[in-house]
Amino acid sequence: MTAQIIDGRAMGAVIKAELQDEIRRYIQVKGRAPGLVIVRVGGDAASGVYSKAILRVAEEVGIKASLEQLPTITPADELRSILLRLNNDETAQGIIVQMPLPAHLSQKMVADTVSASKDIDGISPRSAGNLFLGLPSFLPSTAAAVMEILERTRTELAGKRVVILGRSNVVGKPLIMMLLQKNATVTICHSRTVNLARFTREADVLIAAVGQANLINADMVRSGAVVIDVGINTSPEGRIVGDVDFASVRQVAGSLTPTPGGVGPLTNILLLKQCVQAAWNALDVEMFNHTSGKYQSGTP
Ligand code: NAP
Repeated sequence: MTAQIIDGRAMGAVIKAELQDEIRRYIQVKGRAPGLVIVRVGGDAASGVYSKAILRVAEEVGIKASLEQLPTITPADELRSILLRLNNDETAQGIIVQMPLPAHLSQKMVADTVSASKDIDGISPRSAGNLFLGLPSFLPSTAAAVMEILERTRTELAGKRVVILGRSNVVGKPLIMMLLQKNATVTICHSRTVNLARFTREADVLIAAVGQANLINADMVRSGAVVIDVGINTSPEGRIVGDVDFASVRQVAGSLTPTPGGVGPLTNILLLKQCVQAAWNALDVEMFNHTSGKYQSGTP
């Protein structure tokens, strides 16, 4: 068997076009584009590339995005007051705080401060709690990208055995709840899992989010399985590779995402999709007449 290769770039282009249409509709109703602010405190080269990529894609789809670059020495109370100001800024419907933060700043403070209604990367305890309870929620964008791939490839999940490798807050853990909502039987593995292959071989759908080049080889994959490779690693030869040994696993899997060109291209676009959702939500609140309990005309 040779796996069908899932083209994340092509899928991303389709979602981007859908988003452009949706933003045009939003602008017709609201009279201005949805707004997004990225807050970056200090930051390394990698996080700079990430911010620039979000700004570029935001501009392409029609979101008005800006970067608030703060010095590394920014005190916690100053960062907090900037976030509170952005919470009240009605031109910004989405706020992203670039991670990692400098050591003196707490991720918890950021997660607690960013308004749940603007938390488009799903980092706050409120978003995580809503996801846990099965309520509408913003989702960590990488986990959302994995689900989007499964949905758009019409991968059957109900009753299927899904095995996730990696239990981070941004990928593995949210995926558990998202997959349970789709009635999958979910197993999660991590660095202390004994005999990883015993679990991976049972997977109808295998999701690798570890960060170890070529950890998954063909012997660990069931014939015909759907394999989603989230990992991004640099090989000893300096190439970008996933957690899955692409050359061998493509001989046994039913379908497989490549790295690069699989999950990665969808992550930013899904983040922006959630920004547009936040903008619609804010408009909904604005148009709701609390006295009459009815929506005013113009609501989508
Ligand atoms: P992370 O926070 O470092 O988590 C890695 C997880 O892998 C941990 O739960 C760890 O277990 C587990 N693990 C480590 N070694 C393992 C092993 N041998 N077997 C099974 N599990 C093992 O990483 P992350 O942020 O989730 O990212 C994971 C990978 O995805 C990285 O390569 C990252 O670059 C990539 N990524 C890609 C995108 C994208 O857009 N495509 C976005 C985000 C991340 P413990 O919990 O026991 O330590």
